[in-house]
Amino acid sequence: MTPPMLKLAVIGSGPSAFYAAARVLSSVPSTLKDAVRVHMYDSLWAPHGLVRYGVAPDHPEVKNCTHKFHEIASDPRFRFFGNVDVVPPSEQTWPKAWTSSASNLPLKKPLVPIIAEKNRIKHPNPPHAVSVNLSSIFKQYSHLLIASGAPIPTLHPALPPTPGRIIPALDMVHWYTGHPNSTNSVALSPASAPGLIPSPLPTHVTIVGVGNVALDVARILLSDPDRLVPYGLPSSVMRTLRASAVTHVSIVGRRGPREASFTAKELRELMNLEGVAFAGVDADVLDAALDEGGTGRKLERQKKRILDILKKGSTRKVGDEGVRRTWSLEFWRAPAGVAEADGTPVSTGKGPMCLTLSHTTLSSDGRVKSTGETSALETSLIVTALGHQCVPETTPFCDPQLGHIRTVGGSFTHSEVQLQTKFGQQAADATAVEKPSTGGETSTTSPLASAAAATTVEPAPQATPTYGQVLHPRTHMPMPNVYAAGWAARGAKGVLGTTMLDAHAVGEAIVETWLAAEAAPGLTGGEAKEPQPTLAEVYQLPDGDDGREVTLDSVPKEVLDGLKRGPQRAKEGVVTYEEWLELEKMEAGEESKRLTWEQVGGFLALNDE
Ligand SMILES: Cc1cc2nc3c(=O)[nH]c(=O)nc-3n(C[C@H](O)[C@H](O)[C@H](O)COP(=O)(O)OP(=O)(O)OC[C@H]3O[C@@H](n4cnc5c(N)ncnc54)[C@H](O)[C@@H]3O)c2cc1C
Repeated sequence: MTPPMLKLAVIGSGPSAFYAAARVLSSVPSTLKDAVRVHMYDSLWAPHGLVRYGVAPDHPEVKNCTHKFHEIASDPRFRFFGNVDVVPPSEQTWPKAWTSSASNLPLKKPLVPIIAEKNRIKHPNPPHAVSVNLSSIFKQYSHLLIASGAPIPTLHPALPPTPGRIIPALDMVHWYTGHPNSTNSVALSPASAPGLIPSPLPTHVTIVGVGNVALDVARILLSDPDRLVPYGLPSSVMRTLRASAVTHVSIVGRRGPREASFTAKELRELMNLEGVAFAGVDADVLDAALDEGGTGRKLERQKKRILDILKKGSTRKVGDEGVRRTWSLEFWRAPAGVAEADGTPVSTGKGPMCLTLSHTTLSSDGRVKSTGETSALETSLIVTALGHQCVPETTPFCDPQLGHIRTVGGSFTHSEVQLQTKFGQQAADATAVEKPSTGGETSTTSPLASAAAATTVEPAPQATPTYGQVLHPRTHMPMPNVYAAGWAARGAKGVLGTTMLDAHAVGEAIVETWLAAEAAPGLTGGEAKEPQPTLAEVYQLPDGDDGREVTLDSVPKEVLDGLKRGPQRAKEGVVTYEEWLELEKMEAGEESKRLTWEQVGGFLALNDE
């Protein structure tokens, strides 16, 4: 590679990718600004991740952040390559320098319930995407940022996904946002996916989980379809909502109102929904949550606000004239099993199911435990809104123990993020991680100490691990020049604001580390002295490239082929940001006008004539 450059590949084009890219591009001193490139890859042809395919259509103000993303994309040092699926390397073969001594270390059992192998398709991304192995990326770039989110819904062990009966909330979200996978659930094999969303929607729906995604789904199901008209939902979705028979939505949480993770804004919206009444929370449950003395735990202001909203209830009350639909919150209830009304296992039928709920409480160590009591809830559709996770098949260096990538500072809260960007001793402290130990116990050890002990592992990690740096899932050692941000790094928690803070901190860390790197001593003076190695060189990947020179603007061969002119682009074309802007104009910002891949491919081929 020609002398010092920061050539960053970003996997994913959601908010974390854009916010980190913005910080990288703006943090570089002006004398070096031409030595920087950011190339962003997304397996979907359209950028912006969950802002496009997650945020509810009736929350258009949340999507305003895309103006900032457009601004970032207009920087001449930035390029976007859509419809490019970056495939993680197989763990046995790559990267040798890191896995050879690491492969003896056991991975502990997952901490989060992972989707059963038989229920999971290997790679949920669109079949027309250009597939690029991570090793090709390593050959072209000096730095990597993994910002691929947490794309797999977490399932409940007692609630096996069944089309039309038990579905992850993410599938419902994909349905009403027009995601390309909307008829092809990520949690189900494609063969069983048709009929995912039942039509007509049944009278009683149960949502398991008490976060904002649960409330988003409830709001869409309970709303008068006319309220949704201005937001341009796909016409097939509007047809199903107009034909809906839903009269009640039960939202179930295994903990109490204090622990619910939804926010006051979303709760208030549901309370004020026209023609909809809240059936209330059990008074004892609410009083216990409000009782600071009894629980010995002081209420934060945000929580107090939520409890007050719950106590006040909805604008319209059950039984009021004009109330067409109702909803309820069932706290301290955990699904224990489900069957058809006749006791047989849940099938693809349409009748009511019997959901067994175990009553729960907190044990002295704060864990949820069963009281031994159960109750039955008759329901015809179960939607699980239990969060999201990464799996190693789709996310490079994902730690299956955590359900996301392990990073330096990744377990810190976002107010601590700012502290961690100040590096120094704090950064070394921040790398203290849980390390598998031989006796089945866990001990807290700095990866720097691990690095000293692991004599055969090369290359040596840099002296001071930096915020956002990826820790190898087996050795927990910081991986030079490899970073992760957003939900891929911190797990599926936090709103856009949290994601932005995290991504900014990672972007800054990338630049500061680059500027301080011994490999590029001339950088701070703006003078190029030493060549910057590619990631392939750092990780000693075997040769076998196509022999092309690595330059600031070169891309992997597969991507170059996908950009080539001609009708072939209609089949497997790579989409640039400029093309996306044209396509976006055709969609006019409405979910109902979302283009299919066939239409996009046709546009690309025509564009090239
Ligand atoms: C249903 C839902 C609704 C939400 N609503 C709100 C809201 O109203 N307000 C709010 O503040 N926050 C909301 N959030 C949270 C917010 O969306 C997240 O904080 C944010 O999107 C996380 O950003 P990210 O970049 O880490 O991940 P994502 O937004 O998920 O982006 C990841 C990107 O990586 C791509 N990708 C994945 N794997 C690969 C691969 N192998 N190769 C190439 N590309 C890949 C994906 O296609 C995707 O585009 C919502 C979240 C959900 C799930």
